[in-house]
Amino acid sequence: METTDAFAGLECTDCGVTFDADEATHRCPECGGILDPTYDYDVISLDRETLSSRPFDSMWRYEELLPFRRESAVTMDEGATPLVECPALADELGVERVVIKDEGRNPTGTFKDRGQSVAVTAARQHGATDVALASAGNAGQAAAAYAGRADLESHVFLPARSSHTTKAMVNVHGGDMTVVGGRIGEAVEAYEDALAEHDDWYPLQTFATPYRHEGKKTMLYELIEQLEWETPDAIVYPTGGGVGLVGMYKGATEWRELGLIDELPAMYAAQASGCAPIVEAFEAGRDVHEPVEYPDTICGGLEIPDPGGSPQVLEALRESDGGAVATDDDDVLEAAIAVAKGEGLEMAPSAAAAASGAWGLAERGEFDVDETVVVLNTGTGNKQADVLRSHLMGKGI
Ligand SMILES: *Cc1c(COP(=O)(O)O)cnc(C)c1O
Ligand SMILES: [Zn+2]
Repeated sequence: METTDAFAGLECTDCGVTFDADEATHRCPECGGILDPTYDYDVISLDRETLSSRPFDSMWRYEELLPFRRESAVTMDEGATPLVECPALADELGVERVVIKDEGRNPTGTFKDRGQSVAVTAARQHGATDVALASAGNAGQAAAAYAGRADLESHVFLPARSSHTTKAMVNVHGGDMTVVGGRIGEAVEAYEDALAEHDDWYPLQTFATPYRHEGKKTMLYELIEQLEWETPDAIVYPTGGGVGLVGMYKGATEWRELGLIDELPAMYAAQASGCAPIVEAFEAGRDVHEPVEYPDTICGGLEIPDPGGSPQVLEALRESDGGAVATDDDDVLEAAIAVAKGEGLEMAPSAAAAASGAWGLAERGEFDVDETVVVLNTGTGNKQADVLRSHLMGKGI
């Protein structure tokens, strides 16, 4: 395997045993826990000037802090997304500054590209011929795209309610698609059944591969640099499985360790009320979620009733002095429309839960007037224009 100098291997987040990345590819061989890439930070010499002098051209500009070299990466220059000033939103929320990290500018229109770039690179390094996953839609589209680029076969399991665009684009990228009746749980079951029959398929499933949250941590690196090394007071993240939140929290602790920042930004998980297991666990003071029995939200990417990484998500919220907030679908869609109207930015319904969540947090007095709030726009609105438009229809517009 061709890895970067500091990459040390994989550590189990449950039992703490460490493994060579050549040998352990997915969950912990000892206990089945989630594996997390580790680095020898002593051999990384990165300072603010060095980073600032590099072209802002792709998430792979942080190569030293990723497992694989840029030259061997399966990449389409994902990342390096803009951080857009949103003065109207700042006025509404009553804070000094709101910026939206616009992940809609990624190759397939969502931040899932960051995770799949690293995970598909790992698949190729491990000699895989086929990759597979179940997804609400966006991760499946991203996987099909990166697998195509790496000349791997992809097998994508989607629930019937996935958006038209993601299904169409899995086909367009040459992926083998199975549409499963029901919701994400049924798609995961179908995927697991198929995986049991194909032991040569390389899983790209959330937290099954150690590399998806690893790719997403680069969002944190970027936004700190874009804020000219000011640590924001709050980051509001639309949370399903919480992969991006866990990644960004890791990114912040790494940069603190490297002396690039002094403190951690407060991380907030925003969920849809129809499926908010993280919010419920946070408010109840629990370390792990309880599965939601009847999940129901229009935010497909957030309809994750049984998020396997909830202990990591909850730890990130508590350790960073953040919090959690749930808002109703109607408010989510209203927020998407308000941001599109007032700022011009197009947010997918799932992503807009971060905007309505920020509103909710502001209303309950979570932010001070002099604060800087970052809202993650995890996916572009035009992938689900039909959902946003029909919300207007419901209002007689
Ligand atoms: C997948 C997805 C999410 C949720 O991401 P997690 O990291 O699983 O919490 C949010 N928004 C969009 C647009 C997504 O595609
Ligand atoms: Zn373990």
